[in-house]
Order: sequence, then C-alpha cells, then structure tokens
Amino acid sequence: MSLRTKKKTKKIKKGRIRIFGLLFLFIGLSLVSASAYFYYQLRSVPDLKEENQVTVLPSDVEKVLAGKTGPKITSETAVRAPIFMYHYIEYVADKNDTIRRKLDITPDVLTSQIDTLKSAGYTFINPTDLTLAISEKKKLPQKVIMLTFDDGYMDFYTNVYPILKKEQVKGTVYVIPNFLDRPNFMFTFQLKEVAKSPFVEVGAHTMDHIWLKGVDKQKAQYEISQSRISLQKTLNLPIDSFAYPYGAFDQQTIELVQNAGFTNAVSVIPGVMQAEQNKYFLYRLRPGYRTGQVLLDYLSQNTFKPW
Ligand SMILES: [Zn+2]
Repeated sequence: MSLRTKKKTKKIKKGRIRIFGLLFLFIGLSLVSASAYFYYQLRSVPDLKEENQVTVLPSDVEKVLAGKTGPKITSETAVRAPIFMYHYIEYVADKNDTIRRKLDITPDVLTSQIDTLKSAGYTFINPTDLTLAISEKKKLPQKVIMLTFDDGYMDFYTNVYPILKKEQVKGTVYVIPNFLDRPNFMFTFQLKEVAKSPFVEVGAHTMDHIWLKGVDKQKAQYEISQSRISLQKTLNLPIDSFAYPYGAFDQQTIELVQNAGFTNAVSVIPGVMQAEQNKYFLYRLRPGYRTGQVLLDYLSQNTFKPW
C-alpha cells in the first residue's frame, strides 16, 4: 500500500469515527430527553376539576359557628369584602372537554371583570390586607374585592399574572407544593417569579390536594403545616393564607390551620361578610361569566345561594 492510500484510509477511518461519535451522541441525547419527558409525564396528577362541584353545606358552617361564642356575623362586626374564586383562566383547546369548558373563565372575561370592578371604584386587596382589617381593625377602602386562584395551574403564570400586572391589581394564588413542576402546573421558577410581584400573594393549599374533613389528625396536620413550611422555604416569604381543597373542612381542620401559623383561610361557602368569626373559613363567590352591570348587581346582593 502506498503512503498516499494509507493516509486516505486513515482519513476515512477518522471520518467514520467522527460520524459514529456524533451518532452515539445524538442517540444518547435523544434517550436522555425522551426519559426526562416520560418522567415528567408520569408525574401527572389527578384532575382537580371536581373541586368546582363540591359544596360545603351551610349546615356545616352552622355547626362550626355553634361551637364558638361571641357575636354573630353582622355588618357592625364584619367587613364587606367579596372574594372571587377562580380555577382555570384559559381558552380551552379541547372543544369536547365540556366540563372544563363550563368551569373555565377566559382571559378576556377576567380582564373585563377587573375593568368593571375598577370603574365601579373597587380596590383590590389580598388576604393580608383583609386579616389586618378584621383582626386589627385597620381601615379598608369603602369597596374592596379579592381575587383568588386555586391550585397553581400553569395558566396562572401564562394568563393571569400578565393581566394582574397590566391592570395593576392584586390577586392570590393557592399553591400545592407537591404539584409544582408537573404537567399543567407552574414550575417552581415561575412561582418564584410571581411571588416577587407586588400584585401577587401566595397561599397554601395542602401538600397533595387532599380532602381534609374527617381525615386522620396526623395526616391532616402534615398536609396543612408542611405546605406552609415548604412554600416559605422555597419562596423565602411568609405564607399566611390557606385554602381548603374541595372546600372541605371541620373544626379539627380549622384548629390545625391556626396552629400551623396561618392567619386566615378561604372556603367555598358563598357570602361577602368577613369577620373574626369566619377568619378561618372566609366566604367566597364564583363570579362565572358575569361582567358589567350584571356583575355589579350580583355583588350588591345580601344573600348568596350555595352553588
Ligand atoms: Zn384546589
């Protein structure tokens, strides 16, 4: 073999090694990304849609109140502070998903509701403002409203947060620490970003979105207390507000929430008067698709039917 052909073969060999090397690298990278993707998908969580369907009956509230002494909730001892409850804020991609479509509010409707409330002179507050008003009698503006978003879905970051920033109004997101970084939910880095905003307060919603009413004390205690500890550690911020998954709670739950250090909690019991007596089951309303005068008329009622 001549020197020239030897060199040529060497070159071809080198080329082959390079091609194989690249091929292996490509296969390796594909395998890594495919397994990362499947791991992410495997971490999917149960559908929380049913939360909207569950109602804690007023009789449960009566029972809770019966165990307490002190004055009834009246306009003298309470502040009128409607709290709106939202879940998904999105344009539903799957037109056949009728349940989700029924429960959805589109970003346009949310914007329109905020504009209606702003024009009517409402001030947007967060749970901290409300607790100060209730417990320390700090004065609130005449018309206040609170917007709450349950579960910490990805659309809070993509749809709600931009609206709150643009409209310069406050909103509260109730997060489930163990659901972060899972499909459909916010990533931790996104939560960290929204938590820094003056327009967002972060509250806790248990570690795993469990039904808390009548649950084993130890389990309930872990789910409640750990959700506060975990979020405080991640965000390096105080977490003071709690939301009951499915709106389910009992006297034991309230005590555990209080002992965990939360200063307030939101329920799914309809109403607008918030006071010391219901500080751990603040009433909330579902605004639905109401906008304009219809929304304002809805808010001016004095009795609210259970959903
Ligand atoms: Zn929930």
